[in-house]
Amino acid sequence: MSENVIEIENVSFRYDRQVVLEDINLSIPKGSFLGLVGPNGSGKSTLIKCILGLHKPYKGTVRLFGEDIQKFRDKSQIGYVSQKANSFNTGFPATVFEVVSTGLTSKIGLFRFMNSEHKKKVLKAIEAVGMSEFANRNIGELSGGQQQRIFIARALVSEPELLILDEPTVGVDSQNVHNFYSLLESLNKEHGITLLLVTHDVGTITEKVTHVACLNKHLHFHGKAKEFEHLCEHELSTFYGHHVHVLTHDHNHGGQLV
Ligand code: ADP
Repeated sequence: MSENVIEIENVSFRYDRQVVLEDINLSIPKGSFLGLVGPNGSGKSTLIKCILGLHKPYKGTVRLFGEDIQKFRDKSQIGYVSQKANSFNTGFPATVFEVVSTGLTSKIGLFRFMNSEHKKKVLKAIEAVGMSEFANRNIGELSGGQQQRIFIARALVSEPELLILDEPTVGVDSQNVHNFYSLLESLNKEHGITLLLVTHDVGTITEKVTHVACLNKHLHFHGKAKEFEHLCEHELSTFYGHHVHVLTHDHNHGGQLV
C-alpha cells in the first residue's frame, strides 16, 4: 500500500467557466495532520469535494490509499465532517447514541439491526471524543462544541484511517475551539488517524498540525507547520492576494489570518 493516504496530481477544476483550482499537486502522508488554509472562496471546499470523489476535476488525478478516486469503493476508510454539521435544535428526537449509530448505516443498513459488536463500536467512538457520559442525552440539549464532538464520533464509528473536517469549528466558542483542536491532535497522535482539517484559524492550528497547505486557486505553500510559522506577513499577503495580519500564539484564543 502507498504510504500516502491522499495523492493529488496536477488537479484543475472549474464551475462552468470559472477555474477554481489550477494544477494542484499535494500528497498527504499516512499519520500526518494537515491544516488546509486559505481565504474565503479560495477553493478549499472544492478541493475536499474532489478528494471525496463528489467533484470530477477536468484535469489531473486524485488517489486515495493508492487507488484512483473514481474506482475507490471502500468509503468506510474515510470519515467526513462537513461545515454545516452542528445543526440540531433543542428537542430534536434522537439521542447521542442514535446519532453516532447512523455512522454505521452504510455498513449495516438500518441501525435497528445493530448487534452487540456494532453497539460496542458506537460506545467506543463516543468515548474517543470524551463524551461517554452524554451517550443517552438528547443531541439537541448539547452545546455547539459538544455536538461537533458527536459528529466526529459519528465519523469515527466505522474506524476510518482518514478523517476530513471542513471548517468544523464554525459556531464553536474560542475556549472550546482550543479543546476541540486538542481532541483532533489526540486522534492523530494516539489513534494514528490521518487528519485533513480545512480552517482559516491559522494561529491555533500551527501548534497542533504537522503540516500546512495554503491554497488560493493554486497551492502557494505546502510544508511542515514549523516552516509555515516562519513565513513572514509579506509572503502570506502575497499568497492571500491582500494584506494579512498574523495574530498568533495566544493559547486560549488562537490567531487568525484576516
Ligand atoms: P472555500 O471553501 O475556500 O471558501 P469554495 O471551494 O467553496 O472556497 O469556492 C471556491 C469558488 O468557487 C468561489 O468563488 C465560489 O463562489 C465558487 N463555487 C463554490 N461552489 C460552487 C458551485 N456549486 N457552483 C458555482 N460556483 C461555486
